This record gives sequence, C-alpha cells and structure tokens, in this order.
Amino acid sequence: MDKKLHAETLCIQAGYTPGNGQPRQIPIIQSTTFKYATSEDMGKLFDLEAEGYFYSRLQNPTCDMVAARIAALEGGTAAMLTGSGQAANFYAMFNVASCGDHIVASTAIYGGTFNLLGVTMKRMGVDVTFVDPDASEEELQAAFRPNTKAMFGETIANPALTVLDIEKFAKVAHANGVPLIVDNTFATPINCRPIEWGADIVTHSTTKYMDGHGVAVGGCIVDSGKFDWTKYPEKFAGLCTPDESYHGVTYTERFGLAGAFITKCTAQLMRDLGSVQSPQSAFYLSLGLESLPFRMKQHCANGQAIAEFLQSHPKVAWVKYCGLKGDRYYDLAQKYMPNGSCGVISFGLVGGRKAAETFMKHLKLGSIETHVADSHTCCLHPASATHRQMTDEQLDACGVGADLIRLSCGLENAQDLIADLEQAIAQV
Ligand SMILES: *Cc1c(COP(=O)(O)O)cnc(C)c1O
Repeated sequence: MDKKLHAETLCIQAGYTPGNGQPRQIPIIQSTTFKYATSEDMGKLFDLEAEGYFYSRLQNPTCDMVAARIAALEGGTAAMLTGSGQAANFYAMFNVASCGDHIVASTAIYGGTFNLLGVTMKRMGVDVTFVDPDASEEELQAAFRPNTKAMFGETIANPALTVLDIEKFAKVAHANGVPLIVDNTFATPINCRPIEWGADIVTHSTTKYMDGHGVAVGGCIVDSGKFDWTKYPEKFAGLCTPDESYHGVTYTERFGLAGAFITKCTAQLMRDLGSVQSPQSAFYLSLGLESLPFRMKQHCANGQAIAEFLQSHPKVAWVKYCGLKGDRYYDLAQKYMPNGSCGVISFGLVGGRKAAETFMKHLKLGSIETHVADSHTCCLHPASATHRQMTDEQLDACGVGADLIRLSCGLENAQDLIADLEQAIAQV
C-alpha cells in the first residue's frame, strides 16, 4: 500500500485488498491448520522457501492482515501480532538479547515491563540498567556495556506520563551499535511515529487505544527495516549467522533488512513460546483501528479540557499532562506530538490519599479500573490498588505518590465528564 496515504485512509484500507467477489471486511480465518496437496508443498513452507500458512501458532492470515495495517501506520517494513503487549515487549527484546546480554531501559515505563526486565528477564540471564529518561547523552552513554543489545523506552510513559526524547535515545543507541525499541502504546501512530525520529523497532499493547473499546488483549511488534544488523554480525549473530533450528537459514541474507527481524521473531520465538493473538481478537483490533484517528482526536480533546479544568480547581494540588503549558514535558510533546498526546492525566487532590479515596468513591461516570485508554472514562488510585503493598516512602521513590490519581479520559462528552469530576471533588 502507498506509504504516502494519510492515517485515516491506512486505518481503513491497509493490510487487506479484497479481490473480485471476496469479502469487503477483513475475514476471520478461524482455522488452526491449512491444507496442502503434497508433502513437498508443505516442506517448502517449513524451510521458509515458500510463503504460506500451515499452523496458526506461527502465522494466521487474519493476524497478518491486521499486523500489515499497523506496519503501514507506523511506517515499518514488517510486523507481527502477539497475544498481549507484554509478549510484544518480551519478544522484541529477547529477539536480540539473550542469556549473557544487557539492555538499557528508561525507568519511566509500564510496571509490567519494569518487572519483565528487572525480574523475569534477569532470571533468564539478561541484565538491565535503568536510566532516567531525562538524563544527558553522557549519562545515558555511561549505562552501556560491550554486551548491550538494545535500548528501550516509552513514547509517553504509563503511568509516569513523561515524554521520551526519541532523537536523544536513538542517537545514543546508534552510537553504541544497538537498536532503539520504543513502546508507542499511549501515543499511537496517529500522534507519533517513532520510526521517523530514529526508533528501529516499535511495540504496542493493542489492548489500549488501538482496540479502544476494552474488548481484546493484544500486542504488536513493528520493524522499521532500518537497523543494519549486518554491520555487527557478531553482536547480532542470531540474525546474521545460520539458524540451525531452521535448516541453516540466515535471516538477514534470506529476508533482507526489511524482513529479518520479524521473520526470526516469528520462526523462533512464536514457534517456541506461542503467545499468539487469536484471529477473533485480531478482527476486533481491526475494527478498532478503523476509527482510531477520530477516537484519538476526541481522547486528546477531552484530556486537554479536563486537565485545564483540574488545573484551575482550588482543591486540586497538582496536575500532570503534557498538553498543559508549563508541564515539564510540554516542549517535548509539542515537538513529537504536535496534534495531541493521549487522554491520560494524573493529578493529586489537596488532602492527599484520603481525599483521593473519597473523590473516587463519588464518581458516577468515571469507573474504577486498572485499565486505561479505551472509550470509557476510568480512574485508578495506585496507592490503594496496584501499589497497595508499598509504604508512602516507597511510593514516593517510584514516582507514584500516595495522592496520585490516574484518570483516563474516554470518549464521553467533556462537559458531562467535568460535571462528574466537579461533584465528586465537592464531596472531598
Ligand atoms: C498495558 C501496557 C503494556 C502491557 O500490555 P498488555 O496488553 O496488558 O499485556 C505495555 N506497555 C504499555 C505502555 C502499556 O500501557
């Protein structure tokens, strides 16, 4: 599909062009297996010599069509869906870093990814150094080691709401000969395309805005095709030397820079670990993508209106939203996301933890959920939910104060939402 097409068009048309008499909508290929006439036909697929489907743990046509749509939106060369955002980030990193290797990651990332790196991948022998995303290039450089294989950050961090200086991170990553992996879940390719700023691999929890209706857990990995693995054949031996588990195929030779990363990730990690997205979920995701540009506009407009309302309220102690003038990340947000960022805000009430609990109890439209980034407005008080085992001192240390309320602005009418917030704050 023509890469110059606008996002609104790609969201509807990319990834699937029906032939004569074929279904207009992306078909759900609800089949585990695919039939062939001869063993030779199938053998070619197993040797990665012919293209085609044989088992839905490796690839499924519905999932591939939706992945291709997301690749077009991000401006990448190849993509794959995964069963969750967690699987997407794990696969993207583990595809280049394994036992004995090291990753440099921003501290301002999703809690699940922080655990994945700091606990589970560590147990697998992959070491991590967390860096302050606002650190200077020199400070970032100091985190690198000879065995560093990737750098990782989030465009807009969940829940810290810091904005990543993608160009700065890409510059340091590339100076050290490693790819920059960016989790673009909160911004979505509608508001930011990290590849244009130097990111090499982009990941998503499609569970959030891309699905957008709170119906299906999923993830996606997109490759820019720009990182030249063959410049560092020893460092990225898995991509540049024969894979004995696949009849000696060398991914960069057979599939070029455009396809090597995703083919290896599918052929090895999806084959062996199997975190697939179901065709049904992929179909829900494709429906979500069709309206993504329009929904993001509304999420951002609601986020902006509500952030401004909160900022002007005498009972609100502080508000964090990168669309607010004066926010620490306003300038970076203007650079990377001039048309809007996302609909997630964090704020604290005068009265701290107790006030937060009272406020949330009285919300009528906003519901209490651990989820974010879908059509329904919801909020979470981490100190009494996801982070409830922590003391106030521990909460402060990880940047989630005891008073912090995370509010995800949905698609409802902004005046209705503001009225709801106003009556709940009045109870405090
Ligand atoms: C939710 C989230 C994830 C994890 O995704 P799941 O689909 O829940 O597995 C990863 N990164 C970010 C930024 C997220 O918000």
